[in-house]
Amino acid sequence: MKCPFCGDPNTQVTDTRENEDGDVVRRRRRCANCDKRFTTYERIDLKMPHIVKRNGNRTEFDHAKLAGSMKLALRKRPVTIESIDAAVDRIEARLLSLGEQEVPSEKIGELVMKELKELDKVAYIRFASVYRNFADVDEFSEVIREVQPRPRRPRNDPPAPADPENELFGD
Ligand SMILES: [Zn+2]
Repeated sequence: MKCPFCGDPNTQVTDTRENEDGDVVRRRRRCANCDKRFTTYERIDLKMPHIVKRNGNRTEFDHAKLAGSMKLALRKRPVTIESIDAAVDRIEARLLSLGEQEVPSEKIGELVMKELKELDKVAYIRFASVYRNFADVDEFSEVIREVQPRPRRPRNDPPAPADPENELFGD
């Protein structure tokens, strides 16, 4: 840290302490050249990354908007609003923990799919159909296969629908 009085780069830290919450570090510094003292503060700089869309446009992460999309995917499904909000919170925390300035929208799509897969298989299919646009038949079959109930699952998941395609396209 360069001295604000004489511009000399040789300053020494004489004292370091954290505030009570431990989120700010205060450092007393002394300039080796002019002997003047000054204080610096160090804070955590946590910012949500910008979302880079497929067309290259940048947009802010919008909690309400994402929760709205997920609610749409989960409409008429037995999932509470609270669990949807908790899922969006987890996605937000995950994005924050990346520490990046920008993340591609595909990354958010992946995180949403991961959450939906846990919340509700039918909603997962619905979202995946829009998100992936089912580039080819194999991909579609793959998603359908992924939501088939697995007999050896240890957890007591709610029963999967008999035919997820009926949910998607009607009987
Ligand atoms: Zn100085």
